[in-house]
Amino acid sequence: MGILVLCDTDGGVPRKSAYELLGKAKALGLGTVTALVLGPADVSSLGGYGADAVLHYNNAALATYSTGATVKALANAVAATGAGYVLGSANQVGRDAFPRLAARLGAGLVVECTDLRSEGGKLVGRRPVYGGKALVDARVQSAVGLFTVRPNSFPIAAPTAATAAVTTGDGGVSASDIDVKVVQTLAPDSKQVDLTEADRIVAGGRSLKSKELFDSVVRPLAAAVHATPGASRAAVDAGLATHGDQVGQTGKVVNPSLYIALGISGAIQHLAGMRTSRVIVAVNKDADAPIFQFATYGYVGDLFEIAPLLQKEFEKILA
Ligand SMILES: Cc1cc2nc3c(=O)[nH]c(=O)nc-3n(C[C@H](O)[C@H](O)[C@H](O)COP(=O)(O)OP(=O)(O)OC[C@H]3O[C@@H](n4cnc5c(N)ncnc54)[C@H](O)[C@@H]3O)c2cc1C
Repeated sequence: MGILVLCDTDGGVPRKSAYELLGKAKALGLGTVTALVLGPADVSSLGGYGADAVLHYNNAALATYSTGATVKALANAVAATGAGYVLGSANQVGRDAFPRLAARLGAGLVVECTDLRSEGGKLVGRRPVYGGKALVDARVQSAVGLFTVRPNSFPIAAPTAATAAVTTGDGGVSASDIDVKVVQTLAPDSKQVDLTEADRIVAGGRSLKSKELFDSVVRPLAAAVHATPGASRAAVDAGLATHGDQVGQTGKVVNPSLYIALGISGAIQHLAGMRTSRVIVAVNKDADAPIFQFATYGYVGDLFEIAPLLQKEFEKILA
């Protein structure tokens, strides 16, 4: 038994989502928590965040993400640890590798969880369905259960002084397992937290009218809130923001503590990407806009008047 946690890294450092999953895995009390790290990384911090043991597979075939090598290394890690559950983030890697791992292991897979709990010694994943209109609790019947979890679903506890023994290996993979050739890696132009991991988001809609207005209203408010800017698809289609900024069914699925929606109507496809946000603040001049049915706080009014006022207040509070 026990839980294997696939820990994402960025530039050789564990990502926030890895610490969230380790802390939750430990709290579930379902046996040994093993942190699995693939590729070059500093794994020394993982024990402090809940890992009882660390499995670090590192060789040239794992230096950049490839589906074949990652799935094989994951399957080998499951065999090496005898883990009953495997947790990963519901990000590009989790969405790509976990379904293939499920097929390879004949394992049940629960995707896009926003909560996990143990019940009678079994892991239960809670996940939104129908664009967030309902939540289901899912269990798996197979010997190994796979769960992907949306980033920001769990708080990160302060690290303890605990350390974990590190076992290293090559994961049993080689160059012949690389089925995708990475030709170029483009780093984002800004140092902002990626939307999928952002704890705060300020998003703008079509109502921003032009890229200049989007850049002078949404982005400065986002900076004042210490948030990542986002956009509706209508705003992206109109050229106000890029596709990387898009939140929703055909954009990114986000799960922040705070989501400020400026002039966004709240179409079902937009809601599908942000409905699980803990606090939603909507600014819209139409009191009947659907977004208000989901907002924790709603301001009926002109965003061009309200956004600068919010910006001034946040600048005072978070200066
Ligand atoms: C297959 C498919 C996939 C899709 N995927 C996505 C997706 O991933 N993400 C997504 O966002 N959409 C997606 N859409 C599009 C979606 O249906 C909506 O068209 C889109 O979300 C609308 O964007 P919006 O709210 O910015 O624009 P609108 O719906 O035009 O709303 C603009 C809002 O701004 C308000 N407003 C106008 N001026 C002001 C002002 N000065 N101050 C305050 N409020 C003002 C208006 O009252 C209105 O509510 C998808 C659609 C389809 C068919």
